[in-house]
Amino acid sequence: SNEMLLAMQNERESNARSYPRRLPIAIKQAKGAVITDMDGKEYIDCLAGAGTLALGHNHYVVHEAIQDVLAKSIPLHTLDLTTPVKEAFIDEVFASLPEQFANKAKIQFCGPTGGDAIEAALKLVKTATGNRTILSFQGGYHGSTHGTLSISGTTSPKKHIHALVPDTHFLPYPYEYRCPFGVGAEGHTYISTYIENMLDDPESGIVTPAGVVVEIVQGEGGSVPAPIPWLKELRRITKERNIPLIVDEVQTGIGRTGKLYAFEHADIQPDVLVLSKAIGGSLPLSVVLYDKKLDQWEAGAHIGTFRGNQLAMATGQATLQFIKQENLPAHAHELGAYIQSQLKHIQKQVFSIGDVRGRGLMLGVEIIDATKPANKIGSHPANGELAKLIQKECFDRGVILEVGGRHGAVIRLLPPLILTKQQTDEVLTRFEEAIKAAEE
Ligand code: PMP
Repeated sequence: SNEMLLAMQNERESNARSYPRRLPIAIKQAKGAVITDMDGKEYIDCLAGAGTLALGHNHYVVHEAIQDVLAKSIPLHTLDLTTPVKEAFIDEVFASLPEQFANKAKIQFCGPTGGDAIEAALKLVKTATGNRTILSFQGGYHGSTHGTLSISGTTSPKKHIHALVPDTHFLPYPYEYRCPFGVGAEGHTYISTYIENMLDDPESGIVTPAGVVVEIVQGEGGSVPAPIPWLKELRRITKERNIPLIVDEVQTGIGRTGKLYAFEHADIQPDVLVLSKAIGGSLPLSVVLYDKKLDQWEAGAHIGTFRGNQLAMATGQATLQFIKQENLPAHAHELGAYIQSQLKHIQKQVFSIGDVRGRGLMLGVEIIDATKPANKIGSHPANGELAKLIQKECFDRGVILEVGGRHGAVIRLLPPLILTKQQTDEVLTRFEEAIKAAEE
């Protein structure tokens, strides 16, 4: 039963578990967007392996890809050695990229987490530029290792970790609900002028960084989309100064935001693109794609044992192919817009929703304390406690979702891209009930 497995988990697993404590479920099986627990209760999964399961659970193309590898006796693990499965995966990834980037890109397999791929990207640009400072953004999240934690804006996981990697400089992210830097004529943004000034100011200490790392939509930071003009400005500034722009699409990539790659919304191209999560089609895989000009590191500069998971490459290729064939990014775009409009409707009927935002199926609902006064731009203090209560009320009603962002006050929705309209309406109805119950 649920209870029995949860008791075993609680007794044996580490204290470092976080969300499983808020989502007390032992999973028996899962199909599509639906998870069934050990007692037979069904949940709509709006967490989807933290955005990994683009096609939901146990999609038939994923199963077929696995069976094909097994039938052909392709070695399951090959270190960095190549196979037809690997080359087909690379073909599919290159074909999915904007042509201009694909034509100049090289690929590095990493091992196999998003965090390891970010580590590789940092080492790549440090080697190529000879510089040491990394610019990243407040509220950004890039992983849990010493290196990636160092460039992550989230502060609580760093509390006890002294001696992180030095020379990171944090810039403010254009978080419009709380930090509206404004977008003026011709896309001028105050925040990008600020960055430009920092780079010109000899006293700032960041005149020649090794690279800038950015999420197009901050994920763990609370589903915060950067405005398009700001992204264009960031690209212009970094290009003019020859600073490699590392775009972390670990969470946004492969259709989630309504385009295959989130940078396409801004019609910009990265110098370095980091992919993990959905690129493995449910299995662990991560890659860095980068401009050939940066390919100046030496043989063995980024190694690691588990970089040759053929099953993950096969499921990743099949997933990417299916997403393109079925035009799932367009589905994610439409469904996401519909969900946002419905959530804004709910916002009018309750007290505690401060902001509804996102791109595609990467959505955030910021929960506030409306009993406390708003500041000068009309935003109220964040209310993480209420957000967790809403999460629990949703869970009790059979919807799995996560909280994140500053103060843990953002309800995050990351459903699989195959979520149906009917399931969407179920989620919305239950969410509305949950928030009303939590407010009481
Ligand atoms: N970058 C981003 C944007 C992420 O969302 C995450 C994971 N949530 C990571 C990096 C780290 O990936 P992993 O957990 O696989 O190391």
